[in-house]
Amino acid sequence: MSNELKTHPEIIYPEVAVNTYKPNNPVEVPVLENRLATLEVSPNIIRHITLDVSGTELDGNIRSGQSIGCIPEGFTERDGKPAKVRLYSVSSPSRGEDGKSNIVAITVKRVIEEDQHTNNLFLGLCSNYLSNLKPGDTLKITGPSGKRFVIPENANDFNYVFFATGTGVAPYRGMITDLLENGFGNQVALIFGCPYRTDLLYYDFFRELSVRHENFHYLTSISREGTRPDGTKNYVQYQLLDSREVLQPIVSQKNTLIYVCGLKGMELGLFQVMAREGFSDYLRIDEEIRDKPPSEWVVEDLKKRVRPGERMFLEVY
Ligand SMILES: Cc1cc2nc3c(=O)[nH]c(=O)nc-3n(C[C@H](O)[C@H](O)[C@H](O)COP(=O)(O)OP(=O)(O)OC[C@H]3O[C@@H](n4cnc5c(N)ncnc54)[C@H](O)[C@@H]3O)c2cc1C
Repeated sequence: MSNELKTHPEIIYPEVAVNTYKPNNPVEVPVLENRLATLEVSPNIIRHITLDVSGTELDGNIRSGQSIGCIPEGFTERDGKPAKVRLYSVSSPSRGEDGKSNIVAITVKRVIEEDQHTNNLFLGLCSNYLSNLKPGDTLKITGPSGKRFVIPENANDFNYVFFATGTGVAPYRGMITDLLENGFGNQVALIFGCPYRTDLLYYDFFRELSVRHENFHYLTSISREGTRPDGTKNYVQYQLLDSREVLQPIVSQKNTLIYVCGLKGMELGLFQVMAREGFSDYLRIDEEIRDKPPSEWVVEDLKKRVRPGERMFLEVY
């Protein structure tokens, strides 16, 4: 791997379709399949849902990394208004699920929580609506949305490091397939974090890819089954230390791009470790906190003072 680049190649963003179908003009498509996406029975229920977009403008026009909007038709929000659109990352490759441009996949986690005030069970509106859909049911969708969280047009000019927590891995299923299926020769790493081993999403798929492609490194961080030797939880950012030999040669290249997707809140710990390990050039750190040690950064700092730089793409929710 060459370390000679002084600056990164220009990132050329691809032309992508956006908002072909808007919330006031959604398109109705049939559900093909709805199956569990996790490894085995887990307290976290995540489902892989495929949709048939034949005959719509979405056929062949969704780039992996983009999202679609889903409408829980017939339901109302808690304020009584008609249910709004929720976004879900497309988890199929750009050429479509199994190479079929008319089939689009999404990866949906059922939101099941306990209301902090009443102790009542809270079921997320759209995620449960989607998870309950059966093959043959129809779904109103919008999109595609997102222009930046995609692989650049000049994909081969870069290496890629993808950090994911939970369903944040969904877009990478497509993005990594796009890269490796097109004979990509640079380095690709996926660091996937989840609470328990039962939550490893698309585990066999990524494992198999890593066996077939020497340049694809698949690392998993299980946060609630034991700790690291110093007592910290196994969060994704610690792979920069624990898998130093694999990751640091990639991350230290000027032509490496980092993508971060998943739970809101994963940025702080990741940014702190990156800064501490000498990778602050992926971040835009304001002058006013240059003297503050990264270990003292707080979530508030991420709003204005520490943001992703040009080579880092963030999609958290
Ligand atoms: C760009 C983008 C991509 C996304 N990709 C994915 C994806 O690939 N997969 C995926 O699963 N999700 C994804 N999401 C999240 C998704 O859009 C939804 O936000 C998520 O599914 C929850 O929607 P819901 O309708 O089920 O929950 P809602 O009903 O909208 O509830 C949302 C939250 O409100 C809180 N809440 C509200 N009322 C109560 C109450 N009474 N008691 C307790 N808690 C309450 C809960 O914390 C709950 O989590 C993405 C979001 C964005 C912005």
